Amino acid sequence: MRYRDSFARSAECVRLALPLMAKQDAAMHPISFSVWYEHVAGMNAALSAQLDRVLSTGPTLTDDATCELYRKYIANMDEQSAQQVAAGFQRVLSEISESATQAGKQASRFGSALEEWSDLLATHPGQDLQTGATGILDDTRKMQSAITALNERLDSSQVEIERLQAEIVRAREDALSDGLTGLANRRRFDTALVSCLAEIADQPSGPSLLMADIDHFKKINDSYGHLFGDKVIRSIAQILKDNVRGNDLAARYGGEEFVILLPDTPLTGAHAVAEKIRNTVAGCRILRTGSNEAIAAISISIGVAHYCVSESPTDFVNRADAALYTSKAQGRNRVTVATAM
Ligand code: GH3
Ligand code: MG
Ligand code: MG
Repeated sequence: MRYRDSFARSAECVRLALPLMAKQDAAMHPISFSVWYEHVAGMNAALSAQLDRVLSTGPTLTDDATCELYRKYIANMDEQSAQQVAAGFQRVLSEISESATQAGKQASRFGSALEEWSDLLATHPGQDLQTGATGILDDTRKMQSAITALNERLDSSQVEIERLQAEIVRAREDALSDGLTGLANRRRFDTALVSCLAEIADQPSGPSLLMADIDHFKKINDSYGHLFGDKVIRSIAQILKDNVRGNDLAARYGGEEFVILLPDTPLTGAHAVAEKIRNTVAGCRILRTGSNEAIAAISISIGVAHYCVSESPTDFVNRADAALYTSKAQGRNRVTVATAM
């Protein structure tokens, strides 16, 4: 799950998030809350960096600006899913609010009845206690049933909220992964790169980047068909997955292009990873579906770049891309290290 804070820590985050959220023009709905919660919890560096930028240049956040931040840095899901989830939360909140209002009204009626009865006893000590007690009992039962209804509503809301959270996780996963290979997609890579560069101070070695492209892939498609081409893409994706560590991010960057972000990795380490991947691809034999026929060797070319201080994400990617281009120009099936800026 995305949110793993303890109760005490999350309560502290709520305490910090609410005043910040209250200062904005945007209404205090679950979307605003997620934005400010993730910001104060320090769990979304890219969002915090963008929030700092927006708030330093302009006034308070409007509803539209808040929803945009949510879509871009938190939900990253398609518009329709985001709206469905937001509508779900809104429905749950208004149901809870309605039940709480009913319970509150009942409690206030109960309080007034108690006061009336107490006045009556004070001014008419001889009053028939039986009649008064029956009224109080009656009101107590109504009060109990209002509270029971509220509790039931809260229980079912809890279930609904959990369902919606699972929906968010699923939609996020869908929106951020590549359907063919199961790798991260370009969108997820772009966000991860910005986050990684925002946390550069915590990386003594700085990040490295690998950009890889399948050699003569058009010929593979033309000779063996697109379905086989897809199989090749999936097989190479699997090799990338097998060769990265937990902190690294392998993504499908485009058609037959891949990228691997290696946080806190010196150039020598990144170069070694690139060589290992290139070598594994060159050594593997992919069989044609339904036969034992292995096609001629498949290879990839790779460009490796190490991050230069103050470089923009785009310049960093472009340097890795230029090194990849050099690998192609020099004959393919090779790794080229990018020159520093
Ligand atoms: P180079 O060595 O210079 O990279 O040559 P190339 O043939 O690999 O490069 P080119 O850019 O000319 O061709 C890439 C081909 O990849 C063209 C496109 O049809 C194919 N392609 C892109 N995405 C997919 C995909 O998802 N599945 C399949 N089967 N083919 C794809
Ligand atoms: Mg290409
Ligand atoms: Mg290619």
